[in-house]
Amino acid sequence: MNTTVASYNLNEEEEKKLILREYRALLRALKTRIKRGDKTLLRRAFEMAVDAHMNMRRKSGEPYILHPIAVARIVVEEIGLGIRSTICALLHDVVEDTEISLEDIESEFGSQLAKIIDGLTKISNVVDLKANTTVQAENFRKILLTLAEDPRVILIKLADRLHNMRTLGSMSREKQLKIASETTYLYAPLAHRLGLYEIKTELEDLALKYTQPDVYVEIARGLKETKRDRTRYVNEFIKPIKEELALANLDFEIYGRPKSIHSIWNKMRTKHVAFEEVYDLFAIRIIINSNPEKEKDDCWKVYSLVTNYYTPSPDRLRDWISVPKSNGYEALHTTVMGNAGKWVEVQIRSKRMNDIAEKGLAAHWKYKEGTDHQAQENKLDQWLVNLRDIVSNNDSDSLDFIQDFKLDLFTEEIYVYTPKGEMRVLPKGATALDFAFDIHSVLGARCIGAKINHKLLPLSHVLSSGDQIEIITSSKQKPSEDWLSIVTTAKAKARVKYHLKEEKRAIGNNGKEILQRKLDHLSIPMSAHNINELCLFYKKESSLDLFYSIAVGALDLRDLKEIPHTAGKLHTPFRDIKNDIKGLTPEEVLTSTNPPKGTELIIFGEHSDKVLYKLAACCQPIPGDDVFGFVTAGEGLKIHRADCPNASQLLAHYGHRVIKTKWAKNKEITFLAGIRIVGLDDVGIIQKITNIVSGDLKINMSSMSIDTKEGLFDGSIRVFVHDREELDILCDRLSRIQDIHTVERIEQKND
Ligand code: MN
Repeated sequence: MNTTVASYNLNEEEEKKLILREYRALLRALKTRIKRGDKTLLRRAFEMAVDAHMNMRRKSGEPYILHPIAVARIVVEEIGLGIRSTICALLHDVVEDTEISLEDIESEFGSQLAKIIDGLTKISNVVDLKANTTVQAENFRKILLTLAEDPRVILIKLADRLHNMRTLGSMSREKQLKIASETTYLYAPLAHRLGLYEIKTELEDLALKYTQPDVYVEIARGLKETKRDRTRYVNEFIKPIKEELALANLDFEIYGRPKSIHSIWNKMRTKHVAFEEVYDLFAIRIIINSNPEKEKDDCWKVYSLVTNYYTPSPDRLRDWISVPKSNGYEALHTTVMGNAGKWVEVQIRSKRMNDIAEKGLAAHWKYKEGTDHQAQENKLDQWLVNLRDIVSNNDSDSLDFIQDFKLDLFTEEIYVYTPKGEMRVLPKGATALDFAFDIHSVLGARCIGAKINHKLLPLSHVLSSGDQIEIITSSKQKPSEDWLSIVTTAKAKARVKYHLKEEKRAIGNNGKEILQRKLDHLSIPMSAHNINELCLFYKKESSLDLFYSIAVGALDLRDLKEIPHTAGKLHTPFRDIKNDIKGLTPEEVLTSTNPPKGTELIIFGEHSDKVLYKLAACCQPIPGDDVFGFVTAGEGLKIHRADCPNASQLLAHYGHRVIKTKWAKNKEITFLAGIRIVGLDDVGIIQKITNIVSGDLKINMSSMSIDTKEGLFDGSIRVFVHDREELDILCDRLSRIQDIHTVERIEQKND
């Protein structure tokens, strides 16, 4: 499955052979699905990809083309997709990385495939390693939107991610961490939601391996050491069941599987227990081969045989055969008392159900022609419709949205009914109000209570599986702030937030009118500039907040005529910033600064500067960095780097407080900057570093700290440099030391 090749040891001829061998393996995997003409099409895609990636190599040194072939194999072998998805997988990186355009692909393979590849290209584009969390959240939203358009895009993307995770070893530490955390954050939950349990587990395990290598190695070793004991226990446990099943003439497969490393770690962490207490957790899986008409009966037959022998825990029977999970999962789960007083989980499913459990969504397509699984299809379609609905209609912050959405991804589900008996699937913990919003946003907005199983209950009532709910509405009802703590689903949350904002806007309009009258009275124009000035004075984050506070009477506008004295001349449209903030205290800067557009502040970085400011501790700018000034609410003017992690949030939300700032040319004074150096631990490496810093470049070092662990060197130094140019030269020189992997600028935490 996972071919590890040290291809950089191969010569050209051997590499060619290897590529062809991998391609043939792909063909073999597709064999049963290839129709006439498909083979030529596939060959064309393969050749196009080979040509396009001709001179490219992966970080590991192997030819790049091995990556798309591997992704295509995952798509076929592990997700179970067909020929068209295979072609897309082979070509998934060509538009982004090579000369081939989307038009080329469209003319060669048609518009449907081009659309999928376009989706894949968009997804790669949105993963920006330097982006901050807000930008990332917005990116994830785009990914979800693409998913809603054509699920194949996300399935191929998952295959791509899986292969990248399997080969993450050759990436830099920084990229490993970034890609691994992104995987835990989004891709593993998505795989879970789509029912790709195998892939989800592998993604989580691999992510743990790179984010917490110590933990991973420890648990993996523990599992290996205890394997023999575990196998013996499993064999003893299944022996009598095997005999019973054989007697009943069932065609079956039975095996025990340990929990994944990630889930063991999760248990240890959340339950605060040691490895010894969880290592022997495993599940017994029984897969029966029976035809669709008999599979349900057969599963229950197996259940009855198992529980004849071992006593089941009465409250731990999960019947996902009668009512499958919304991602399509079907199985019977029970937990029984095994030998030596140990609880053992037994999972019972048919071969078809097992395919769905492993290949998820894709298996549904495969079984689509199979008779009565129409209901299944509908539920998945319903999920996609729902998803599209939430993603495109929500008015809330992306970050908020992603968090709400993630909650939905992970929680268990309950099944509830409308008065007419229509079933709805909601996350566990959902309230009557969630149900109302699930049915329709208008129903949600007007909900005042619910009749649950014919009993009148408040809208905050938490629903249970099997509840039948009738929503009671009133035309006078409207959403309020406290509803946000009642609803739990992303959809309902987004709706409530939207309503609240709309209402605030409507009320704000009254406030705007009140303000307009007052300003007219004082002959002050209601310009954008003056509104900003007022926001600053009243410490409001936006004009909407300002108008709203005025409307609800939270602001006393009697102060308004006092403002010209304290906050500067409200009605003066333009001022010279240098004169304005010259020699002022930070507080005075705060209340007086609001430079008209186009003004630029020049700073030297020394005490003789006419303006008081501080260099922000979060990004520690030095001359040469792109910077901007920001008027804070209590600490005066702060200078941030344009690539500061906080920058986009500041710029997005408080644009009116930003002052364009530039460094003056100056080579007199020095600034403290931090550098992190990671590489292989080698004798004399410290000597080499100090030689460059103090010897060659004559840069003063303020401190140095080093961590070496298992042959890895991880150090940071703080140096006094004049500007960015000098720092860049230093970094460049350091990165050329043999065995040094990364040299990056860092900020010091203790400042
Ligand atoms: Mn790729």
